Amino acid sequence: MTAEPCSTPGKVRYATPITARRSADRDTAIHGTRHTPYPCECGWWHTTTSERDRKIRVARDGTVYARKKRKAKPPGSDGDHEAT
Ligand SMILES: [Zn+2]
Repeated sequence: MTAEPCSTPGKVRYATPITARRSADRDTAIHGTRHTPYPCECGWWHTTTSERDRKIRVARDGTVYARKKRKAKPPGSDGDHEAT
């Protein structure tokens, strides 16, 4: 196994998605901000509150789901544009 250097060495490291999930849930409850576990390039798991890191989702039993890319919406269906 060739783990990359950790880009966030100051973060707590978790060996499994289950422990990371538990910590994330606890921090979410304590801080009121959503914490999400994610696998780091260093081979460990960390938790984050950052939106951009949420490419994966971890269930409470530790099952890891990769977030699927959304299909591009057809123009005019996103509802972001105000109708004037
Ligand atoms: Zn790391």
